[in-house]
Amino acid sequence: MENSKELRTWLDDLQLPHPLVIAGPCSAETEDQVLQIANELKDSDVSYYRAGIWKPRTRPGNFEGVGAIGLKWLQKVKEETGLKTATEVANRTHVDLALEHDIDLLWIGARSTVSPFIVQEIADALKGTDKVVLVKNPVNPDLSLWLGAVERLSKANIKKLGVIHRGFSTYQKTKYRNIPEWQLAIELQTKFPDLPLINDPSHITGKRELVFDISQTALDLNFDGLMIETHTDPDNAWSDAAQQVTPTSLKQMFKDLKMRKETDEAAEYNAQLANLRAQIDVLDNELIDLLGKRMKVSDGIGELKKKRNVAVLQTNRWNSILGNMILEGEQRGLSEEFVLRMFKAIHQESINHQEKIINA
Ligand code: PEP
Ligand code: MN
Repeated sequence: MENSKELRTWLDDLQLPHPLVIAGPCSAETEDQVLQIANELKDSDVSYYRAGIWKPRTRPGNFEGVGAIGLKWLQKVKEETGLKTATEVANRTHVDLALEHDIDLLWIGARSTVSPFIVQEIADALKGTDKVVLVKNPVNPDLSLWLGAVERLSKANIKKLGVIHRGFSTYQKTKYRNIPEWQLAIELQTKFPDLPLINDPSHITGKRELVFDISQTALDLNFDGLMIETHTDPDNAWSDAAQQVTPTSLKQMFKDLKMRKETDEAAEYNAQLANLRAQIDVLDNELIDLLGKRMKVSDGIGELKKKRNVAVLQTNRWNSILGNMILEGEQRGLSEEFVLRMFKAIHQESINHQEKIINA
């Protein structure tokens, strides 16, 4: 798949004065619930109304969706409110039924994107459709797997494509349900700047209190839209209760979020930006230069250890470097998390250098 302006035609054609908004409940529960939420979302910034009909649940025994009957409720939403409709599809039968009920946007869920067999089956079933198809990132942070799914759809001649960043599962305890790993989304955006990129703060955070901040970060990073789970009675939702927001708070969020422009033509802004970027370029070169020098010194230590047959890893020395650098970093406004990550990477590179020398 190549980057081309055509990738974003479907989005540009909507002529929205703001980012694309997809909102609605995690799951369709009853006809009344689906219609009530939709009615509260009409005449807002929401373009597409989402509701899961078939729910991929991690453990059996949880609510697994109402099934095909929910598609009729979504059709009613479109008739009554004019909102376009969206749902998740995970196999050929889902696709056939969704197309039969004229659902406007179909997305592939994070648990399906991991499986090339499933993605291929969905792509074959969708062949040539003019519906919008969005691919959620796979649960594991693997950019090729994510792009591979988009490519399968593109090869099936589906033109209205996009991706949804919903975070990645992790064994570590973090404040998020799925860690954002923004770098991955940024890398995807760099490779395919015209492929519409939507953020899903609901599944990243897992908590409604954190949804606003993640949405703002996404807009700051130039995302094209947001998909936010919305429910009139979130605490009693049949799935993902903790992360859904009410239509009222969704509308307030869109008043409070700062929308960013992609760029600005003003000469003064561009001159200042060019100057600051030149400074960054100089500093980045100095950083690389310093790191190269540091590794040369590390090579020297490797030679010395080799002569004396001493182990590469010296835990005490490493702990004392880390402790010092966290303190030094703090005084310069660098977070502990950043200093730790950076020095772990530097230390690993140092170990690799010394290993090479010792085993030569
Ligand atoms: C959903 O959007 O409700 C959903 C199941 O999402 P994900 O595939 O990101 O887990
Ligand atoms: Mn959900």
